[in-house]
This record gives sequence, C-alpha cells and structure tokens, in this order.
Amino acid sequence: MTIDHLDYLWINGKLVASEEAKISVLTHSLHYSGAVFEGERAYDGKIFKLAEHTNRLIASAQTMHLPVPYNFEQIVNAHQLVINKNHIKDAYMRALIWRGSESLRLTSLELSVNLLITALRSVPRPLPPSVKLHISRWRKPHPNAAPPQAKSSSHYQMMIVSQIEAKELGFDDAILLDWRGFIAECTTTNIFFVKGGQLITPIAETFLNGITRQTVIEIAASLSLVVQEQHLSLEQLTEYDECFITGTSAEIKTVDSIDCGAQKIIFSSNEITHCLQKAYASLVRSATKAGQVA
Ligand code: PMP
Repeated sequence: MTIDHLDYLWINGKLVASEEAKISVLTHSLHYSGAVFEGERAYDGKIFKLAEHTNRLIASAQTMHLPVPYNFEQIVNAHQLVINKNHIKDAYMRALIWRGSESLRLTSLELSVNLLITALRSVPRPLPPSVKLHISRWRKPHPNAAPPQAKSSSHYQMMIVSQIEAKELGFDDAILLDWRGFIAECTTTNIFFVKGGQLITPIAETFLNGITRQTVIEIAASLSLVVQEQHLSLEQLTEYDECFITGTSAEIKTVDSIDCGAQKIIFSSNEITHCLQKAYASLVRSATKAGQVA
C-alpha cells in the first residue's frame, strides 16, 4: 500500500511535485532519528489550530537543538501554499524538520536543517469508531530521558513497537504507563475517563499534552463539565463509566474496552463522549469558517 499523498509538497522554500521530492540515503535523521514533526488536519481548506501546531513544531525543534531556518509566519505561509496548490478541502497535513546528509557525525556544524510540509488525502491510520485497548509492556520514560513535549521522531520507537504488539494480540492500540506505573497515553493519542459526569485525565508530565486534549478541556469548560487532571493507576479503571482517546488524527474516539491482563474493563456508556464528539466536530469546521488560521 502506498501513501496517498497530494500532488505538491513544500520543501525548503519551494513547492515541488510530490514524486520529485527526494532525500539522500545519508540523511542524518534517518540514521540517528531526532527529526521533529506535526500532524495537522485541514477542514474545509483551513488547518485547525495551525498556530498551536506551528508553535509546537518550533518549540520541539528548539528542544532538540534543530535551528529552524524559517520563522512562524513562513511556516504558516508554506502550509497555505500547499493547501492552495493542491486545492485542499479536507486533508491530513505533515510538517517535518530534519537534519540533512552533509555529515554522519552525531554533531556537525555542516549539517543542514530542512523543512517539509506535505499533505495526505486521509489520515495515516484510521481507527474504528470504538477502540479496544490493552496495556503495553513498554513504559513512557522519565521526562529527563526524553523531553515529552517535544514531538520528536526519537520518542516514537517504543510507540511503534507497542502498536505492533497490540495489533498482533488483536487490539486496536495500547495504553502506555509511565515509568512510575501511572496511566500515560496511547501510542498516538491522549486518554480521558468519565466518572459521575466529570472528566478525568492523566497529568501531562510524562507524555505529549496534545492539542486535541487541550481543546477537549476547553470544550468541557464551555459545557460546564469539570475536568480533573490526576495521577491514575490501573486499579482505578473499574471506577469509570466512559473512556475516550483524543488526537488530531483520531479526533475523539470512544474506547470500548481495556484489557489489563488480569481483568477486562468494558465501558458500556458513552453519553458524555458523544456530546464532546459533537462539539469537536462542529468546532473544527466553525473555527475554519470563521477564517481563523489557528
Ligand atoms: N500523544 C502522542 C504520542 C501523539 O503522537 C499524539 C499525536 N500528535 C498525541 C498524543 C495527540 O496530540 P494532538 O492532539 O496534538 O494531535
């Protein structure tokens, strides 16, 4: 299966035909990882929360010591060029910053820093409307081992392994616990629980504080729903009525069940999740209709 990318992408200041864009086999970030990226979504021709994604991209690059040769406005404009050139209405967008192929030393002043903005017709991995989760045997590292708010390819290796293992066992995805054993997140989404009409979600200390997670917290406030950010242990899972996951690509997906090995928790209710899904679906399109870039 090939990736269904759109005809044109933007790379280092130029719009080029997607099939003509090539990079070297000596690309530093291919050998040593360490690229930073964003996954964004365009709805009705506008990218939802583009300012937040662009700020996060720049912040991730700074954390990983990648001196980005483009500023906020240039990155936002590059997205707009890709949208216009491809006549995009709805698409999944990917921004990527990586080290070039000028040296295979771990560090070298000769290494270029490159920026790519590309678009796919659909999200890379559509999830079913209600997902079945299990607990990964891999854990999120201590924040001193991998800066959790930097969206870097270097953090994704054990997410990939966790996803492969979840699929092999018949699950849609895995929950990773953090290094202390608290519930952290899934491989590409944040997680929420509902109990007695309140939302409960782990504290974003050891995992990415997703833009969708923050949006859901804002929507919840507008619906007068209380949100509690807490350390959550596996033992607490039986207390919850609903569970859902959030992410730019996944949007808001109901969780059907969580297999914890010793026991399987089935969430039979999804009333509040449905309210949030409705509000989110309307927000992503109304925000774009209002003409906002972010
Ligand atoms: N956690 C991880 C590890 C992710 O890759 C993503 C997707 N970017 C998320 C959470 C959700 O983040 P966002 O809502 O910003 O897409």
